[in-house]
Amino acid sequence: MIGCKNLVIMCMDFRFQISIYSWLKHRGVFGNCDVISVAGSSLNLLHDAEPKTFILNQIDLAHKKHGIDKILIFHHEDCAAVSGTPMDTEEQIRFHHEKMNLAEKVIVSYLPNVTVNKYFISHKGQFYPSIVEHPNSASTRTSIKNSNALRV
Ligand SMILES: [Zn+2]
Repeated sequence: MIGCKNLVIMCMDFRFQISIYSWLKHRGVFGNCDVISVAGSSLNLLHDAEPKTFILNQIDLAHKKHGIDKILIFHHEDCAAVSGTPMDTEEQIRFHHEKMNLAEKVIVSYLPNVTVNKYFISHKGQFYPSIVEHPNSASTRTSIKNSNALRV
């Protein structure tokens, strides 16, 4: 089977395409990953109805047909899929990481062997990961406060 290792789940929002694609390109992932691009990104996995089923079917397809075993979730600042009281950037980072953690649980309960990495992107193009990857050891979870923003 010809495949790829990574699946990207990102919002449809055009404003973040260059940042995300540059980030992926820099890491050798761009052009070698499946992509699910839908408004709200992984927030769709937190619904009980159709959007969740749709996303899980896409993930399943990428897993079975291309053998993906790593999922990269991207959420971004001022996502139109989030309604309610406006939040500042720090609140949004916290909010989206909580939602991405919940989405990860949905994914892992469906496909236990996949790794899920999660990133929030600010308007300034800064990436706020929830997992810091160390080249010589397994991934280590870190709090949002302690994580360093990665500039693209
Ligand atoms: Zn969005």
